[in-house]
Amino acid sequence: MIVFDLRCSGGHIFEAWFGSSAAYESQRAGGLLACPICGDAGVEKAVMAPNVAAKGNRRPELATSQKPGAAEPTPELVKAVLAKIAEAQAATLEKSEWVGGSFATRARAMHDGDEASALIHGQATPQEARELVEDGVSVMPLLVPFVPPEKRN
Ligand SMILES: [Zn+2]
Repeated sequence: MIVFDLRCSGGHIFEAWFGSSAAYESQRAGGLLACPICGDAGVEKAVMAPNVAAKGNRRPELATSQKPGAAEPTPELVKAVLAKIAEAQAATLEKSEWVGGSFATRARAMHDGDEASALIHGQATPQEARELVEDGVSVMPLLVPFVPPEKRN
């Protein structure tokens, strides 16, 4: 696999993977390449050397995906993404029972089969959370801060 940094005529820079240099050429000639940001098909290689990645050997470093000139996420975009996450979390929690401080006990009871499995959310101390994870109980931290029902006005 070869990764190329491509640039559209609008100046967006993005990364694309190809099986070979020839595959890139034929896709470009066939008009199959388009900018993922604006859809522009006037795509060319950006003036950076391509990286040849060893197949499946290692994951590309996170830092290498930050291209100079690539659009930085704007605060608005970050806010929108966080709002989406909060929305998804809220939708999940609607189907979930708030169990407050008895979360660890309930989660463990479900894990041990002493209680019917259900979706619950609640509070656990860092110590409790660690023990649950160590014991293989499937728990995950909420992604956005959650206000317990009794603390809402
Ligand atoms: Zn573009």
